[in-house]
Amino acid sequence: MLESKIPQGPIDKKWEDYKGHVKLVNPANKRSLEIIIIGTGLAGASAAASLGEMGYKVKAFCFQDSPRRAHSIAAQGGINAAKNYQNDGDSVFRLFYDTVKGGDYRSREANVHRLAEVSVNIIDQCVAQGVPFAREYGGLLSNRSFGGVQVQRTFYAAGQTGQQLLIGAYQALERQVALGNVEMYSRHEMLDVVVIDGKARGIIARNLTSGELERHFGHAVLLCSGGYGNVFYLSTNAMGSNVTAAWKAHKKGAYFGNPCYTQIHPTCIPVTGDHQSKLTLMSESLRNDGRIWVPKQKNDLRKPNEIPVEERDYYLERRYPAFGNLVPRDVASRAAKERCDAGYGVGTSKQAVYLDFASAIERYGKTECRKHGIENPSAGEIRKHGVEVIKEKYGNLFDMYAKITGEDPYSTPMRIYPAVHYTMGGLWVDYELMTSVPGLYALGEANFSDHGANRLGASALMQGLADGYFVIPYTIGNYLAEEIRTAMIPTSHPAFEAAEVAVAERLKKLKTINGTQSPESFHKRLGKIMWDKCGMARNEAGLKEAIEEIKALKAEFWRDLRVTGDIAEFNPELDKAGRVADFIELGELMCQDALQRRESCGGHFREEMQTEDGEAKRDDAHFSFVAAWEYKNDGNWELHKEPLEFEVVHPTQRSYK
Ligand SMILES: Cc1cc2nc3c(=O)[nH]c(=O)nc-3n(C[C@H](O)[C@H](O)[C@H](O)COP(=O)(O)OP(=O)(O)OC[C@H]3O[C@@H](n4cnc5c(N)ncnc54)[C@H](O)[C@@H]3O)c2cc1C
Repeated sequence: MLESKIPQGPIDKKWEDYKGHVKLVNPANKRSLEIIIIGTGLAGASAAASLGEMGYKVKAFCFQDSPRRAHSIAAQGGINAAKNYQNDGDSVFRLFYDTVKGGDYRSREANVHRLAEVSVNIIDQCVAQGVPFAREYGGLLSNRSFGGVQVQRTFYAAGQTGQQLLIGAYQALERQVALGNVEMYSRHEMLDVVVIDGKARGIIARNLTSGELERHFGHAVLLCSGGYGNVFYLSTNAMGSNVTAAWKAHKKGAYFGNPCYTQIHPTCIPVTGDHQSKLTLMSESLRNDGRIWVPKQKNDLRKPNEIPVEERDYYLERRYPAFGNLVPRDVASRAAKERCDAGYGVGTSKQAVYLDFASAIERYGKTECRKHGIENPSAGEIRKHGVEVIKEKYGNLFDMYAKITGEDPYSTPMRIYPAVHYTMGGLWVDYELMTSVPGLYALGEANFSDHGANRLGASALMQGLADGYFVIPYTIGNYLAEEIRTAMIPTSHPAFEAAEVAVAERLKKLKTINGTQSPESFHKRLGKIMWDKCGMARNEAGLKEAIEEIKALKAEFWRDLRVTGDIAEFNPELDKAGRVADFIELGELMCQDALQRRESCGGHFREEMQTEDGEAKRDDAHFSFVAAWEYKNDGNWELHKEPLEFEVVHPTQRSYK
């Protein structure tokens, strides 16, 4: 039975009330309680810094050479908060409402409301740390728009918001390391959770430099290990992002929530061929000023600037006049696919649409000329000033585009196409962020919690930092207050011994198959199955085929894998093999989940379930639940359903028209 532990009371009082009554741990007891944190991205670094500051004994782990290299550093566009600095009608309620609606009514109201409440604290915290958010001329923090909303609530630091936020969290973490409250284990990969008498009590980690296995005890374990978008092989995620930590926890009893909910981001640089192993995001912030279009004529071979405005189809503005280019990501992605599938795509692959800044350059240019007192400015002067504004706002993104494509986006529209970007699914957690294993928590992208079936832009950073700075510091006390009499369990305990032996045997198995194919080649094949059959559009026949193909791929993997190098040394090939093995198992579960969810919602688009005009068609009567999968044995899961109750925001057909 799933117990979500949502507090009683009105939605806007639940968190306040929870905080007022939650059990506390006194400072002396905190010093003898040990917490293991896997991951030092925004969720993990903020949690480690906060819990260290509170006086707990923390051990933090990451597989990179430095905590600062977590995938969070890649985040570009911004972080949401209901500050209403623009005085444009924003509020905690509106952020809550937008997020529940944006997630297509598949998230838990209570969690989302708490997220909206603490969003305002995050900005204050980060400013106090010195995060250089963009400012208006007068010094106030600046905001821009992101998709699925009609207010400007996104705080940003040029196109490097994740990097700046991570530097803030990292320096707070390093302070605790220097004080001795946090022990940092870089280049360590968690390969199992140790469960004793039903509670998470530690981990087995591999020192990735020496290959040695290590045992670590903790009174609680926090997984802040990020998302699993790389199951698709090609994604905008960092190359190292993987599911292994969450998957090991899943196999030790943690339920996996909504694994099929994947976010496909509409504005990425299109795939150019078979050689690619990575895709690049063009931040959603660009949709503030960029207009998306395709030619009205099929297979139009003219250059974009040769196509007159009246022969262009600004299809988002046409279909969704209320939100225009700022519709949510799932809607924008599907609309791009629809146009390309119908034969209007551009570029050599015809799998791309234009993102065009010409109107914005002209609009900003005219305003700047007025500011500079230039009367009757020439087209050249307008353009020059307009380009300067665009450069200031998005310069690093434009540079990135130019470097990758060899084209100048200031003078010709960018070509973009949707790509895998984020996973809303993840480990199932209750209101306290605890998984179904007592003492085992999941934070940030690793959990399934707040975004339902579609995440709104700039809400992942908000959620990761909310979890780490403002939620877990309270909720973990409720558990640890009962653990103050639990002495440190020696790692010679049989449960540690058994877990280490199992990890060692699996590594040996991977290494000794001695087949012919590399981990990378299996990963690529898995990705193609996932993208073709469990990607932007899914259907029953395709999902059933995918499950069979993945089972066959798994058998082939364990028969014909080749891992070069040795176990007892630095061996990225072996690391990769383990991660691909876990991705293959996850892929099967994702397809099972997508198959059972016979409705379309958010990023999960079942082709059989769509409205006449091609929008996602939910089936609230049968699918208003969180799917929480329990691992039974290889290829076998049991589905538990957490019903979703909407007391405040009543589910309707989502409309951005
Ligand atoms: C290109 C790009 C741009 C984005 N831009 C935005 C944006 O503008 N706004 C926004 O809100 N969101 C954005 N996102 C999403 C956002 O960046 C992520 O969702 C978020 O950063 C995830 O943070 P995290 O702390 O949960 O995980 P991560 O930052 O992914 O950190 C995971 C950590 O876990 C560690 N780890 C994982 N497995 C193990 C293991 N087995 N053992 C030890 N350590 C392990 C890693 O070493 C790492 O430290 C963007 C995403 C991408 C791909």
